[in-house]
Amino acid sequence: MRVLVIEDEKRVANFARRSLVEAGYAVDCVYDGEEGLDFAQAASYDVIILDLMLPKLDGLSLLKNLRNRGLTTPVLALTAKGTIHDRVTGLNAGCDDYLVKPFAVAELIARVRSLLRRGTSQLTKLQIGDLILDAATHCVTRAGKPIDLTPKEFALLEYLIRNMGQVLTKTMIEQHVWNFDFDSGTNLVEVHMSHLRNKIDRGFHPPLIQTLRSVGYVLNEQSAVPR
Ligand code: CA
Repeated sequence: MRVLVIEDEKRVANFARRSLVEAGYAVDCVYDGEEGLDFAQAASYDVIILDLMLPKLDGLSLLKNLRNRGLTTPVLALTAKGTIHDRVTGLNAGCDDYLVKPFAVAELIARVRSLLRRGTSQLTKLQIGDLILDAATHCVTRAGKPIDLTPKEFALLEYLIRNMGQVLTKTMIEQHVWNFDFDSGTNLVEVHMSHLRNKIDRGFHPPLIQTLRSVGYVLNEQSAVPR
């Protein structure tokens, strides 16, 4: 899952970035409204965290602009002003939730999770065959056996399982699981996919991750069908 943080206060932006990265999200941070608008349109973010008081373009104008362009990405607004009036104005402008600064790590992560659930599925427990991923506790089991994944492998599996049965290209995976800081010329996706496959498929039946040569990957129970 990939998150865009638009916040000009570096201290707050860095705090949000660190908290989200530790929770397993890919994060990009930008520091003014214009850059925020560019980034929000350039990549497929799963959640946008938007400070309302921003240089160059304020948060509410940025938000209206995005919604007018048909972008439905859930937006969590950050504001120093927690008054009812501001909340109503913001909700009318199309933001999905509010967080009043200063906020705690746990609160930020909980709000982001809740927006992700709203955007995709209400379920925190996702299952394919005998593989279960619990997005709330970050636990993965297969056939009842706990599987230890790195945060990146977990993010990769969560993206696959939320889109099970659909072919996901390397670019789609990069866009949702990594941020802009990585070099897309590398074989990062292949390497992480191979580690993930060793952990969730090796020693189990049927294999769940299917590779479609030069197309992408699909998580599919039917990859089990004998050929
Ligand atoms: Ca600000």
